[in-house]
Amino acid sequence: MIHRLWDPRWETADCTTIESHQLELLKEQVKRVFTKLPYYRKKMQERNISPEDIHSIEDLRLLPFTTKKEFTENYPFGMFAVPLNEVVRVQGSSGTTTGKSSIAGYTRYDLETWSNLCARLVTAAGVCSHDIAQVSFGYGLFTGGFGLHGGLERVGALVIPLSSGNTSRQIKFMRDFGTTALISTPTYALRIAEVMKEEKVGADDLSLNWGLFGAEPWSEGIRKQLDNDLGIIATDNYGMSEVMGPGVSYECLERKGMHIAEDHFIVEMIDPETEEPVAPAEVGEIVLTTLTKQAVPVIRYRSRDLSRLFTDTCPCGRTGVRMEKVRGRTDDMLIIRGVNVFPSQIEGVLLGIEHTKPHYQIVLTRHGALDEIEVQVEVTEGLFHDEMRKLKHLEEEIHYKLKNELNLDCRVKLVEPKSLERFEGKAKRVLDLRSK
Ligand code: ADP
Ligand code: ZN
Repeated sequence: MIHRLWDPRWETADCTTIESHQLELLKEQVKRVFTKLPYYRKKMQERNISPEDIHSIEDLRLLPFTTKKEFTENYPFGMFAVPLNEVVRVQGSSGTTTGKSSIAGYTRYDLETWSNLCARLVTAAGVCSHDIAQVSFGYGLFTGGFGLHGGLERVGALVIPLSSGNTSRQIKFMRDFGTTALISTPTYALRIAEVMKEEKVGADDLSLNWGLFGAEPWSEGIRKQLDNDLGIIATDNYGMSEVMGPGVSYECLERKGMHIAEDHFIVEMIDPETEEPVAPAEVGEIVLTTLTKQAVPVIRYRSRDLSRLFTDTCPCGRTGVRMEKVRGRTDDMLIIRGVNVFPSQIEGVLLGIEHTKPHYQIVLTRHGALDEIEVQVEVTEGLFHDEMRKLKHLEEEIHYKLKNELNLDCRVKLVEPKSLERFEGKAKRVLDLRSK
């Protein structure tokens, strides 16, 4: 397969070029942060560190981390390193975990960088100026919509800024306009595929080639289903508002991990407990340092996302480090009766079982001192109207497989097709009733 590159100079740079570029920018960035951001200067002073102590990339480890807490404490503009008149846009996190948005700001130069990085992302995912791209990510403070929009325009694709929601209309536009690229959360793409089936629209009735999905974890099983139901090559892309938004890393059409834009970000992988670097190729928490951001530079931002790094070469020609699909966030991890469980593990089990849909909900309750976990699973239309015996059998199969995988007794409840909530943005799979 021939791979197009958006910015070959950096996407194929050798590691010495990248490292010396990173070091030069890192020194400048640390100096700026130290002079412009009181919250970070204080942290550095507490550790007795000054910008002059940074002589190598490894010296990054001397610096304190930044966390979501700082964004909350310094809400709204305390993380800005430039005066407000130089900031031309704000965006924010969706507030999935804290309920409070982190505010991201961008100077004109930052917006330029962002759309260039998103242009790399969309090019890697197959999109070019001939494509008709439907952005079904929400527009607004959420970085997904505007971020991808900027990159798509930059490569010269025809952009339809539809935003999420009104799924029948999404499908109508895909037909009317001959949409070739769909941009959304994987959860919303599944919903679109579901409504297509209800409306008897097949992949052949559409012109889709590419699916660019991100903003939440999704498994290889979901990828297969989306490839198949929509007739696309589905690729993953990753980012977060505190660091920039989408464009931090992205898959190419080889789909062998996400290429990190290392000329703009330094990536580290740490053990979330000890905060020490993990061994190469081990699972850890992704920590990112921005090298070029002006408005909101962050040093060693703890994403709480778990992944692994690869350094082997990718057949696409891009060099540098790649990261594995994100497994989930450290704070997504459920601890049930002492057993650690990630919702993605449950999804993995369910996708391997026939007659279930990829729609499920995890409900946590507490009875006395004991936590209970119930997994509610939608079954397919045909099976639901089938004999009780078959349903019972399926319930037992799910129970057994979950127990095997998780080492935990989960209650399993089969529910009617289409009875669980559908999402237009990121899915919320866990309903935690334990503190209620
Ligand atoms: P929030 O933390 O409020 O959801 P954002 O909207 O900025 O804020 O989302 C960033 C987070 O979304 C990331 O930290 C990560 O947990 C998740 N995320 C983004 N892209 C991906 C992806 N491709 N795979 C898995 N998770 C992702
Ligand atoms: Zn590649």
